[in-house]
Amino acid sequence: MPYQARLTRNQQAVLDGLSQQTQPISAQALYSVLRQQQAIGLATVYRALETLKLRGVVQSRASTNGEALYSLVKQDQHYLTCLQCGRSVPLDHCPVPELEAHLQHSVPFKIYYHTLEFFGLCEPCIQQPK
Ligand SMILES: [Zn+2]
Ligand SMILES: [Zn+2]
Repeated sequence: MPYQARLTRNQQAVLDGLSQQTQPISAQALYSVLRQQQAIGLATVYRALETLKLRGVVQSRASTNGEALYSLVKQDQHYLTCLQCGRSVPLDHCPVPELEAHLQHSVPFKIYYHTLEFFGLCEPCIQQPK
């Protein structure tokens, strides 16, 4: 991680907290986790997440209720998300690494990450429509 040395203590704490998560997490939920270990404010967590995003270390995706969920960029993870129950099932691999590599070489743009998500109904919800 190229910029790690220049992170502030709070940014490092947010990054460490995020790297311990197995799922993308909201800023609010991450704040609840971090607050148990140290004195940190919600606004500080939001600021740190935004800074880490601009450094290409952290990415966010929107959950079905519109809340931003954060994860590390190195976790290039995509999901099938159910519109009815909100459950997200991870795909076992990224389907577009070639596309990203191709774009990286053909457009004057430094690509940090991409998002790709599929929406519909999960198996239990198909069988029990509301
Ligand atoms: Zn469902
Ligand atoms: Zn991907």
